[in-house]
Amino acid sequence: MDIRGINVVWLSKVDLTNLNAGEGESNYIDVKKYQIDSIEYPYVSGQAMRYYLKEAIRRNLNDGEYMCVPDDKGETCGNIEKCIGCDVFGFMRTQKAEKRGEGGADTRVSPVKVSPAIGLLPFDQNSTVDFLTRRHRGLESGKLEGDIVNVEIGTNLYKAGISIDVTRVGKEETIDQEKRSVVPEALIGDSESKNRIIKVLGAIRYLTDYSKQARLLTDFTPDIIAISLQDRYSHRLQKLFEISDGRKLNIARIREIISGVKDNKDKVFVGMISGIIENEDEVRTVFAELGLTPKAPHEALNDAIQEMS
Ligand SMILES: [Zn+2]
Repeated sequence: MDIRGINVVWLSKVDLTNLNAGEGESNYIDVKKYQIDSIEYPYVSGQAMRYYLKEAIRRNLNDGEYMCVPDDKGETCGNIEKCIGCDVFGFMRTQKAEKRGEGGADTRVSPVKVSPAIGLLPFDQNSTVDFLTRRHRGLESGKLEGDIVNVEIGTNLYKAGISIDVTRVGKEETIDQEKRSVVPEALIGDSESKNRIIKVLGAIRYLTDYSKQARLLTDFTPDIIAISLQDRYSHRLQKLFEISDGRKLNIARIREIISGVKDNKDKVFVGMISGIIENEDEVRTVFAELGLTPKAPHEALNDAIQEMS
């Protein structure tokens, strides 16, 4: 099968943590939240999720593999050929103008799309406010003084996902002026493109660089996961997991989405650990009915990687 799109969607249960602070105030660190029907739920922005994914890739670079660090203006190198980060996550750079008024932005749309991670359980019922003291020397007295900082922390079940536009990794799109069409130009070989995609998939297992971890030690890697290798690019798999009735997964939804996705000859891999949702047995049954055997989440990811290589 010619793989054009890859989707990964997962659920991760976290212990007390603050994965993405909101606006807050100087002595109050809140959690980013959204509302459904006036009930607040926590979320982690897509930008933060991209950062976590990038840092997980950076930690696992082999000798000779390169990923730039943004400069003081936040701009990256823009070298698709050399830099894994600029290739798979895209960039926006300001080009230096030769003459006044001719400068422009040099941009690459990210072939890897990342969703925000959304908490599925109400924040109020699953959170507390902790405090920490910030110690510093008093300006006048020179003595050690402490400020109390309040920090919102909560447990939750988060849903997150990524989608990879496989055909664009390692390629640059140029416009053929004569034919008025878009021509993808390969800048690296097929095996290096594949290697970069595998790096992204592998990084999902090693997400760690969230903020405030010195006192929170959160594991935010997948507990329940589905991966699809698709012959067409779509985001359909992202709707697979819906929580209803407490902590149950919507079984009808799983059946509908997987049937739809598999119809396109796509390959689907699933993984789960126990103790995350209430209707685990029902979920295993519906997966079996759909011809899927749930393994451990890391095995599901490895199977998908194996299938690609
Ligand atoms: Zn770069």
